Amino acid sequence: MATRENPFRNLPQVQKLLELPAARSLSERFGHRAVTHALRSTLAELREQIGSGLLAAAPDVDTVLARSGERLADEVRPGLRRTINATGIVLHTNLGRAPLAREAIDAVADASSAYCNLEFDLETGRRGSRTQALEPLLEQVTGAEAALAVNNGAAAVLLALSALSRGGEVIVSRGELVEIGGGFRVPDVIRQGGARLVEVGSTNKTRLDDYRAAITPETRVLLKVHQSNFRTIGFTAETGMAELAGLAREHDLLVVADLGSGLLHRTPGTTEPTVGEALAAGADLVTCSGDKLLGGPQAGLILGSSEAVDPLRRHPLLRAVRLDKMSLAALEATLRLHRDRPERIPVLRMLGQSEEELQARAERLMAMVGSGEVEPSDAFAGGGSLPEERIASRALALAPPMGPDEAAALLRSGEPAVVGRIRQDRLLFDMLTVADEDLAELAEALKAVAA
Ligand SMILES: *Cc1c(COP(=O)(O)O)cnc(C)c1O
Repeated sequence: MATRENPFRNLPQVQKLLELPAARSLSERFGHRAVTHALRSTLAELREQIGSGLLAAAPDVDTVLARSGERLADEVRPGLRRTINATGIVLHTNLGRAPLAREAIDAVADASSAYCNLEFDLETGRRGSRTQALEPLLEQVTGAEAALAVNNGAAAVLLALSALSRGGEVIVSRGELVEIGGGFRVPDVIRQGGARLVEVGSTNKTRLDDYRAAITPETRVLLKVHQSNFRTIGFTAETGMAELAGLAREHDLLVVADLGSGLLHRTPGTTEPTVGEALAAGADLVTCSGDKLLGGPQAGLILGSSEAVDPLRRHPLLRAVRLDKMSLAALEATLRLHRDRPERIPVLRMLGQSEEELQARAERLMAMVGSGEVEPSDAFAGGGSLPEERIASRALALAPPMGPDEAAALLRSGEPAVVGRIRQDRLLFDMLTVADEDLAELAEALKAVAA
């Protein structure tokens, strides 16, 4: 009778709930404040549901506690979640680009879990430079005379142009005025750096004479931007680095090359210039990212002659784009691996897999899932690197009964999240970017949608 008159009446009180053993164990796990807050929110929601007639009566205490527990578990789920990348795109900017090598992860933990000599010279006891350990290593692996590292590739370009061309003119080919993604456009960066952009040539052809004709007493830099995420094909002409460097020398100008991807070692079949090749061809300054083909943390590397790098060291913008100690630690460890044991860098390992390995992994996954088919698949390096170079790979293809979009959404919500590709009515899981250690978890997730 009482319940019928007042359906809110049996809703428990927060203080009473907090005294129960189940609430105490929630408090131990999530903290007292969070549990109090979650109980209040759950009760408010129940009150609303009763008020709107969605619920006839208050649920029992166990239900209230269970709902609060779910709410708390949701709240502590981190925003950044582990994701199995089954897209076949090794450097997927949306999925965090390069996974780090074990050595780099350990270096991050060491540098960040205690104090470290970030800007302290342990020999002299005086203030040191934060990149002093890194610079010789960068010089060793690239052959550059001088080196600097900043927060990311875009910052490296901005700093270079700010320090070398402010108030002057920067000449760049119309075929290289690219947008890298996320709104990073070369013309905008040149303007931000305080220089005037002088475009030369046409979209498909830019010759040395085009650069030569545009040189004025205001010219500071000849800029070469790697096309990264697209290619001009057909009737095309591009001025090579060596020719450009020759012209720059005649007029006492600097050549800056934004390579983007940061390839350090020549790998068979890649058309991408390496950092060392660009420097050897005469670039005064080369910039690239740390988390593309270099396989390290987010960072921007600047390599070149001392004459070109020194003004950047003195520029006020350097402070605003400096690397933090965790990235610095990861970058140093990654560069050491490049020098001594490149096969331990995950990005390089993934790109170096044979079709037999990929076929075997796909077959193992198929056996674990108990359904699907193994098919040839085109994988890519990604991240604006080698956009045309398809990598022959293998994928497990599934036709989930609930339809591919719904299945893909379900896989994204899992732990770990799984991201693959959709082709027609099926889901494809490419083996190039899946590690053997991920197979068991991936198979569990796929079984749930294949059933
Ligand atoms: C990726 C890329 C950049 C930007 O580098 P971030 O590290 O993403 O800031 C700049 N230039 C080129 C040519 C690139 O490919």
